[in-house]
Amino acid sequence: MLFKQRNIFIIICLLALILTSCAKQSAPEAPVNPVSKSNFLLGTEVTITIYDKQDEAIIDKAFRRISEIEAKMTINNAETSEIIALNNASGSSEVKLSPDTFDVLERGKEFSEMTKGRFDITVGSIVKLWNIGTEYAAIPEPDVLEQKRLLIDFEKLHLDRNKLTARLDEKGMQVDLGAIAKGYAADEVAKILRDNGVKHAIINLGGNVLTIGGNMQDKPWKIGIQDPFNPRGEYLGIIPVTDKTVVTSGTYERYFEQDGKKYHHILDPRTGYPIDNDIASVSIITTKSIDGDGNSTSVLLLGLEEGLKLIESQKDVEAIFVTYDKKVYVTSGIKNDFALTNSDFELMD
Ligand code: ADP
Ligand code: MG
Repeated sequence: MLFKQRNIFIIICLLALILTSCAKQSAPEAPVNPVSKSNFLLGTEVTITIYDKQDEAIIDKAFRRISEIEAKMTINNAETSEIIALNNASGSSEVKLSPDTFDVLERGKEFSEMTKGRFDITVGSIVKLWNIGTEYAAIPEPDVLEQKRLLIDFEKLHLDRNKLTARLDEKGMQVDLGAIAKGYAADEVAKILRDNGVKHAIINLGGNVLTIGGNMQDKPWKIGIQDPFNPRGEYLGIIPVTDKTVVTSGTYERYFEQDGKKYHHILDPRTGYPIDNDIASVSIITTKSIDGDGNSTSVLLLGLEEGLKLIESQKDVEAIFVTYDKKVYVTSGIKNDFALTNSDFELMD
């Protein structure tokens, strides 16, 4: 996890540096230096960089908003979390939610429907059991895993938009927003920045990158796509984007090793084990970061063929797929924009 945050941060800083220094050469009237701050929130390193306003207060306001979202959606603080309240009430009663938590749950249920439960917002029972990303990560006992796996079923999550309530039918069911909460938070940060007049910025929530506008020359930002086999800040290609999000999910991002085998953090509800298919990583390019986040996790779970279909079925959603045999598949809408920079990989038609 730390690897990934540092890498993406470095890639963006590097590219941003190149771009801003270019901007200075050709636009000597460039008014301000960028202002950038980092903070550890939502279990990841968050970096916000504003290029056209020297105003740290806007960034602080954005950090406070992320903290607020984290408090409501975390699975680590029972005093503030609406998700823990909902999980604790499973099998017994409905729970009143804030609009934030309701919106994320609703979008999570939509992704569960779109992928026919491969992505399942009620995957929490087995996420907790595996503990991947913590020091307690271990392979669960098969019978316990199976018992918890049987509690996964998004159709037993009931949402009432009028009352802003949610209910889980069976005792022990658990929702988990880990696959989309960062995307939602990135979108909320973008709103704050735009409302405060920011026109050029990059928001990075541990791999959920969201760009505001283009760079200071009004050219697209150049975002590096991580090489999933060499996660040390090396990228395999570049995608230019303006006012878009680039969200990457990879099996290399969070894992532990036991008896020489790697166990990563994206779990297959059909087996209870980490998903095992042809995709090593996928980057989604779209407008809203929650859509990028939901789609990136979904595509990893669906595999190349079904994942491509899912992406092509949505308007304004593009993707870069990287398979274990080092082939790179790019969807039609960004085919002419994406530049492969690492010749170890093969760009497919
Ligand atoms: P990252 O958090 O590394 O950016 P993702 O956005 O792909 O990666 O989300 C991975 C998280 O999604 C896991 O840590 C877990 O909380 C959650 N998750 C794991 N398996 C599933 C699944 N089948 N459906 C929905 N969410 C899942
Ligand atoms: Mg995701």
